Order: sequence, then structure tokens, then C-alpha cells
Amino acid sequence: MTPEQQFVLEAMGITPRWQSRFAPATTTETVVMSAITTEAIESAEHHAAPVVVPVTPVVAWDTLQQQVQQCQNCGLAQTRTQTVFSRGSMQAKWMIIGEAPGEQEDKQGLPFVGPAGKLLDAMLHAVGLDREQDVLIANILKCRPPGNRNPQPAEIAACFSYLEAQIDCVKPAIIIALGRFAAQTLLDTDSAISRLRGRVHRWRDIPLVVSYHPAYLLRNLPDKARAWEDWCLARQTMS
Ligand code: SF4
Repeated sequence: MTPEQQFVLEAMGITPRWQSRFAPATTTETVVMSAITTEAIESAEHHAAPVVVPVTPVVAWDTLQQQVQQCQNCGLAQTRTQTVFSRGSMQAKWMIIGEAPGEQEDKQGLPFVGPAGKLLDAMLHAVGLDREQDVLIANILKCRPPGNRNPQPAEIAACFSYLEAQIDCVKPAIIIALGRFAAQTLLDTDSAISRLRGRVHRWRDIPLVVSYHPAYLLRNLPDKARAWEDWCLARQTMS
């Protein structure tokens, strides 16, 4: 692991005690973090995903974005400042899916900005991914629920076809569902996120890994280590 990656992990509040593979482990945490973290980061350093240059469906993507900008399919159209479509690269192999725009996203028209976005950037960087080039980031809802309230089932039902079309355009090799609403919607379940994370699911035939939303992690620091395990699981799945 490079000094820069170690710095990022420490910024996330994750400071594993590195364990010599020849020395006896002292705690379960040490074993887990040394095994998963070291392997994942070394994988990121030495086994980067192959560069693939797919045919880019620009017209379909632009048309879809225009449809979202003009959408009046649910009541959130009346309260939004602007729609929030996506950020990142259409050539990305990783697709990150969150819940809905918040206040800053609604103002800027981009997903995952502000403190939660910075934490997501740090996690992406720690697994060797660039936010602009290696991932495509989108939300279940394209418009902000007032006061950042939870999305309502009717709003999710009205908006979900846009996300399906985005996934069809990007054709990611893996999906990361961040937070309860993204995970439950994509997996069509009401199971708690604690029961969904830690294993690889499928959305259609695409591997899907569930983890905590960065906004939640900012309020629940102990779960950062679990989130880091989720990202390592995703990296292992990709490699
Ligand atoms: S949340 Fe989705 S369905 Fe509702 S108005 Fe916005 S784009 Fe349309």
C-alpha cells in the first residue's frame, strides 16, 4: 500500500493494525483488516481492470437526460431546483447507486457532493478508483425530496425506469448500492441493510454489493470499518 492510500484510509478513520503474515493474530479485527485490506489494495495497485472501449450510446444517454430534465412524473418535480442525473464516466465498469439528491446535490445538479461526497471520493480513491473516470454515480430518485425526507414508494416507482435505462446504457460490471433505499429497491426486498451487506447479490446478471451510504457513515463512525470491508469485497469481485 502506498503512503497516499494509507493517508486516505486514516482520513476515513480506518487505521488497521497491519499484521505480519508470520506472526500470530491478536484479535479478530486484526486478522480481517490485514487480510482483506492488504489484498484489496495490492489488487488495486497491480491488477487494475482492463481498459475496454465500448461503443458509446451517446444519443440514448442524451435523450434520457433530457427526458429526466423535463420529467413531471411525480410531485418532486414541483419542489426540485433541478434534476440530478449522474456523474462520472459512461465507460465505467463500476456503477454507484445512492438514494436521492440532498440539498447540495439539488443546488449543484450533481450526485454525492458535500461531506458525504468527499467521503465517497476517499473510499473510491482507497480502492484505486477515480471518481470521474472509473465510476458512474447515480441515484434512485433524480429529484430531491423536500427536507431530505425518505423517498416514498410512489416516487421510487415513478422514477425507477430512468435508473434501469441508465444501467442498460452503461452496462457496468458491478453495481454498488449505497444505503437502505438503493439496496432495497434494487434487490426488491425489505431486509435491513445489515443483512444485505457482506455478500454478492445480482441485479439481473450484474454482481451487486451493498454498503452503507456515506451520509450515514458520517454519523456512525464505527460502521466505517464495515463499509471498508464492503468495498474490498467489491474489489475482490471485480478481480
Ligand atoms: S423524482 Fe423522478 S419521477 Fe419524480 S419528477 Fe423527478 S425525475 Fe420525474
